[in-house]
Amino acid sequence: MTQRYKFNWDLLGDIAEGRPNLGPMVRTEIYRLMQFSFRDVLEQTYGTEAADKLFYQAGLLAGKQFYQNVMKAAAAFNDFSDFIKTFQSTLAEKGIGILRIEAADHARGRYVLSIAEDLDCAGLPELDYEICVYDEGFIAGIFASYTGREYTVKEVDCWCTGDRTCRFVAEVAAANKLAGQPADRREV
Ligand SMILES: [Zn+2]
Repeated sequence: MTQRYKFNWDLLGDIAEGRPNLGPMVRTEIYRLMQFSFRDVLEQTYGTEAADKLFYQAGLLAGKQFYQNVMKAAAAFNDFSDFIKTFQSTLAEKGIGILRIEAADHARGRYVLSIAEDLDCAGLPELDYEICVYDEGFIAGIFASYTGREYTVKEVDCWCTGDRTCRFVAEVAAANKLAGQPADRREV
């Protein structure tokens, strides 16, 4: 299978040159318009489960790229506390959301995070399921990049389920646990 648009950060272009009058920002509803139109077409074509999986995978790719091209470019971080501070500041600076770490169990590789004013879902109508699958992948990509281990992330509370913040549990993937690899960074 040939691939025309294998991701690299350069695909995002030179925004300063390309949008001298409109600048780098776009309104939240326009970002959501693209995300929800993709969701509709993917779900119609492949079904709900596969569409969610594709969103998670895309988020994972985005998270790894965001880590490499935004977080690492923003600051040097040598321990978990630095990593989280940069994670928080870059998410806020890009208008993605307001991150808090609610629990951190370094020994088990398990973290509970909340994101308020989440770009993907804050303000959406109430549904009976969590919707931030792309965010789950995004957070998994960032944790995997920092730790060098695979993570699975599950949203447990969402604006759409009546909470006013999104809450995620990030855990080292089971295969990594079995391999018994020590976490390479366990400070804080
Ligand atoms: Zn959510």
